[in-house]
Amino acid sequence: MPGLEDLYREIILDHYKSPRNRGTLEPPAIRTEGHNPLCGDEIEVYIAVDNDIVSDIKISGQGCSISQSSASMMSAAIKGKPVAEVRALIHRFKHMMSIEDVEEPDTSAPLGDLEALQGVVKFPVRIKCAVLAWNTLAEGLDTAAQ
Ligand code: ZN
Repeated sequence: MPGLEDLYREIILDHYKSPRNRGTLEPPAIRTEGHNPLCGDEIEVYIAVDNDIVSDIKISGQGCSISQSSASMMSAAIKGKPVAEVRALIHRFKHMMSIEDVEEPDTSAPLGDLEALQGVVKFPVRIKCAVLAWNTLAEGLDTAAQ
């Protein structure tokens, strides 16, 4: 009977080896990029927003297993979701990652596989890896809202 940590490691590895929604989107899709110089992670997030719904998302870039699997899980979690729900999930994820300045989130946004990343909190230097894609996504949503 594998422990929860093994299960979590398996989910992270699965997303790292078979990343979801990999690729790019053509304009007018929004493209934002993020870097984590501490680790060398680079992420590009492409989102298409139609009628306040994130209708499509693609991820490009390279980096460590945590940054890449977090981006993959994020893409799977938010594709087809209303922007408000996506923002709630960003908030909730950052809260799970113990980022300061984030208040107790709306827990109705389900984390699903993303819970696999909660073990990262034990390794503060890796938190930036896990949050990179999410910050990049938030920037893209802000651009979409303008
Ligand atoms: Zn990293």
